[in-house]
Amino acid sequence: MLLEVRGLKKYFKTTKIQALDKVSFSLGRAETLGIAGESGSGKSTLAKLILRLIPPDEGHVLFEGNDVSRLKENDLKDFRRKVQIVFQEPYHSLDPRMRVEDILKEPLILNGQREKKDLYQKVSGLLKAVELSDGFRSRLPHHLSGGECQRVAIARVISLEPRLIVCDEAVSALDAIVQAQILNLFMRLQHEKGLSYLFISHDLRVIRHMSDRVIIMRDGQVCEEGPRDQVFKNPQHSYTKELLSKRH
Ligand code: ADP
Repeated sequence: MLLEVRGLKKYFKTTKIQALDKVSFSLGRAETLGIAGESGSGKSTLAKLILRLIPPDEGHVLFEGNDVSRLKENDLKDFRRKVQIVFQEPYHSLDPRMRVEDILKEPLILNGQREKKDLYQKVSGLLKAVELSDGFRSRLPHHLSGGECQRVAIARVISLEPRLIVCDEAVSALDAIVQAQILNLFMRLQHEKGLSYLFISHDLRVIRHMSDRVIIMRDGQVCEEGPRDQVFKNPQHSYTKELLSKRH
């Protein structure tokens, strides 16, 4: 297993909310797990715990067999490289003052790649991988459409060859046609690079399109888990049935 989440609990004292309550699941290599649930069900909190941005009260996140809360120095750096996140708002995830070329170079430089020629070629390869022409190098984020911006954000996260990408409502801000293009891009990259995805969305059509397996969250708990077709065609939990019926 690439990722194992065991019994995660998170309570926020300020709001007195049990944001996560005994959440467990696993994710294999080149697999996509869809995480669905309404706003406030704990999806983003789960993403933050997996990325080690906040600590759990109880439970463990194991990545490649190692407890991420115990990683130190080089192992932690390696984890930060291998696990990336794509956010909902593409404009907010890119520095507005930096040109696309520099946005894409930055993580490479921080990881020790300094040779100008190599960096130039790497940027070309990344733009190509996300289906943008080399002319995009000199653009600033506000000279990009929402879809182009998200492509740059994706190019940036794949630059360090991650194993796992957490997509937190990654296409929710895009209109339907662009959404479909970006979802296809995610799928092609998965196929080419053997990436695993945690695909978090309140949009069940997106979850159905992308996922091999699905978990449905409600009030911080996993109320249903299973292969995609089983969850969508034969849901067991009344809450899943209710969610599915809301779409029609
Ligand atoms: P989702 O991503 O499914 O919309 P969240 O994980 O953002 O849900 O939130 C789950 C619950 O935890 C919500 O009720 C939210 O208000 C609460 N919550 C999230 N983050 C914090 C925080 N930093 N402090 C206090 N309460 C929080």
